[in-house]
Amino acid sequence: MTREQWGQIKQELLETVGRNNFKHWIEPVDLAGIKGDVALFNVPNSFHGNYVSQNFGELMLFKVSNMVPEVRRVDFKVAANIAARPSDGTTHSEQAPQPKKTAIRAFDGPLTCAALDDRFTFDTFVVGKPNELAHAAAKRVAEGGPVTFNPLFLYGGVGLGKTHLMHAIAWELETARPDLNVVYLSAEQFMYRFVQALRDRRMMDFKEMFRSVDVLMVDDVQFIAGKDSTQEEFFHTFNALVDQNKQIVISADRAPGEIANLEERIKSRLQCGLVVDLHPTDYELRLGILQTKSGSFLKQYPGLNMADGVLEFLAHRISTNVRVLEGALTRLFAFASLVGHEITLELAQDCLADILRASERKVSIEEIQRQVSEHYNIRLSDMIGPKRVRSFARPRQVAMYLCKQMTSRSLPEIGRRFGGRDHTTVMHGVRRIEELKVQDAQIAEDLEILRRALEG
Ligand code: ADP
Ligand code: MG
Repeated sequence: MTREQWGQIKQELLETVGRNNFKHWIEPVDLAGIKGDVALFNVPNSFHGNYVSQNFGELMLFKVSNMVPEVRRVDFKVAANIAARPSDGTTHSEQAPQPKKTAIRAFDGPLTCAALDDRFTFDTFVVGKPNELAHAAAKRVAEGGPVTFNPLFLYGGVGLGKTHLMHAIAWELETARPDLNVVYLSAEQFMYRFVQALRDRRMMDFKEMFRSVDVLMVDDVQFIAGKDSTQEEFFHTFNALVDQNKQIVISADRAPGEIANLEERIKSRLQCGLVVDLHPTDYELRLGILQTKSGSFLKQYPGLNMADGVLEFLAHRISTNVRVLEGALTRLFAFASLVGHEITLELAQDCLADILRASERKVSIEEIQRQVSEHYNIRLSDMIGPKRVRSFARPRQVAMYLCKQMTSRSLPEIGRRFGGRDHTTVMHGVRRIEELKVQDAQIAEDLEILRRALEG
């Protein structure tokens, strides 16, 4: 493979993995050469090699072998000149970095593993209202008893625990039913394997491999939308397994019916089992997760203390996504252990300022108008319309004031959204409320109630 070809692959990788991942992980990797059926890459250290191998190894293999068909494996080697330990020479092959579990065993090809994360078990999964149904369904599947609903379709927004639950099922089945052949993979991996099998004329192996599975779990199935031949094959695999009464678990970021570019017959097949959604987290669940995770952090960092109220503050302020919540806690502990402080509210606010800012709820002008007109019991059309009587004008001014305070909209923009009023009218309204706020206790209280309602 030439440098140009490698350059082209890098460009493609950049598009697939995103700028951040690319900069951190792919950029420092360099092509060392191709030996037989192995593409060898230099990496700065073995941690880096492990990470790239586990997270992007398959993708890289896919891209490289598209260009150089002989290649069936990628290896990562610590480059002697940049390694912390010279002559370490450790290599990390696609299979070598001890994926905690090799979920796919039977397929004799280069793409042979989908590692499970050993932190993702039922023990570490905190159950609350928003996810109790999904958890219960996953537990049921993990018992490995007779198939009662097929497929189990888990869906929900990013970072709410879909992958965690699927891995937990796989771990539990490994102990409870070691006789079963359990396969977990992402829809993207399914796709790579499928394309690979087509290219190598090994479709028979591919079909046989997937059809000999007892429990098949496919994560993030929305990725096969629009990929027609992959969808087709997925559909056949799916039907074959359901017909044999084998358990299938699917996840996606939205309900089956809402996945665009997915064939109707697949949508309806996906809906015929149990469809459960993971709801956005609520305060109690977030607090529960924070308590569990900080408990284990406190064990890792003996000597660190946490002041009362910090977890409550974070549970209150950080968005619904658990991944963000975890990231915040990890950073907080790392930071505190560096500066050797007690973890206080101020420290949290300081070190997590960007995360806190990003998860501030964004309130829209419409929401404010709606909330305010409801509060004063007037119609939305009267708030926006031209009537100047006091009973409409005052709520209108309150709404304008809140728009100025709670959104980043300019005065002319706010004016436009209030029936095309001039920006000086908005400015006058905002000033009027600022005055009244200190003179009129009722207005001050209204503002407080409205603000709280809008902040959610
Ligand atoms: P998804 O696949 O839905 O995008 P993940 O399963 O990858 O989300 O979860 C994101 C992170 O949040 C993981 O580290 C996971 O362990 C954690 N997580 C999500 N939900 C819970 C929960 N209920 N209890 C504990 N950890 C959770
Ligand atoms: Mg996931």
